[in-house]
Amino acid sequence: MKDMSLRLADSHAHLDLEELAPDQAEVVRRAREAGVALIINVATGLRDAAQVLHTAASYPGIFAALGVHPHGAGTLQEKDLETLAALAVRPRVVAIGEIGLDFYRLRSPAAAQEVWFRRQLDLALTLKKPVIIHTREATDVTLKILREYRGRLTGGIMHCFAGSLKEAQNFLDLGLHLSFSGTLTYPKAGPLREVAQKAPLDRLLVETDCPYLPPQPWRGKRNEPAYVVATARQLAEVKGLSLEEVARATWENTLRVFGLEEEEVLVAQASSL
Ligand SMILES: [Zn+2]
Ligand SMILES: [Zn+2]
Repeated sequence: MKDMSLRLADSHAHLDLEELAPDQAEVVRRAREAGVALIINVATGLRDAAQVLHTAASYPGIFAALGVHPHGAGTLQEKDLETLAALAVRPRVVAIGEIGLDFYRLRSPAAAQEVWFRRQLDLALTLKKPVIIHTREATDVTLKILREYRGRLTGGIMHCFAGSLKEAQNFLDLGLHLSFSGTLTYPKAGPLREVAQKAPLDRLLVETDCPYLPPQPWRGKRNEPAYVVATARQLAEVKGLSLEEVARATWENTLRVFGLEEEEVLVAQASSL
C-alpha cells in the first residue's frame, strides 16, 4: 500500500504519443497509485491537439497544454494558428505549449521557429495563459525573445531545464519557473543538481516528459508519470529536504503556475480509481 499522503504533480507528459497511448489507462492508473494526482498532458502540435484535449477530458487530474513544438514550425501556416487559438479556449486547457526553439536538431529552419515562437507567445498573451517553453541549444535567442515579453506573460515554465546556474538565474529573473525532468537523476548531472540546490524551491517543478527521459532507475525503458517520484526524490536530496516536503512544494507550484485550484484537481479522483 502506498503512502496516500504523498501527492505529486507531473508538469509535463505526452500521454498521447504512440509509446504511451496503447495502454494509457494503465499508465494513468499507475500514476494515481504512485500519488501523481495531477498531470499536464502536453501536445506536440496540431496533429495531436484534439487527442490531448480528449485525454484531459477523460480522466480527473489531467489537464491539457496546447501548442506547436519548434520541430513543427517549418510547416505551420496562418490558419493553423487560428485552429490552435480556437482549441486553446476549450475547458481544461491550462497553458500554451510546448513552444520554443530547438537549434539542436533543427528539424525546422531557425527563422521559422522564431516566428512561430513569437506568434504563440502572442497567443498566450491574448488568452492570458502561461507558457511551457522548450529550448535546446538556443538559450540566448530564447532569452532574448522572452525578454521582449518581460512583465506581460501570465507566467511560464522552462521545461526539462538543463542549463547553467547563470541561465537559470536569467529565466528566474523573468518570473519563469524551472521544471526538472529525469535528467536530474543522471550520474553526469552534477552541475544541474547544483543549479537545483541553489534555485528557490518555490519556483521549481518536476516532470517526466514521458515517454522520454526516464529517471535513473528506469533508464533505457519507456518513461511514465508514476516515475516522477524519482526526480522529486533527487530534488529532495539536493535540497536536504524530505520527499514529502518537495512533493508538497512542487505540487503547490504546479497548481499556481497553471492557475488550478486543488479542489478541481482532486475532485472525483477517489471514485474513479
Ligand atoms: Zn520539450
Ligand atoms: Zn515535451
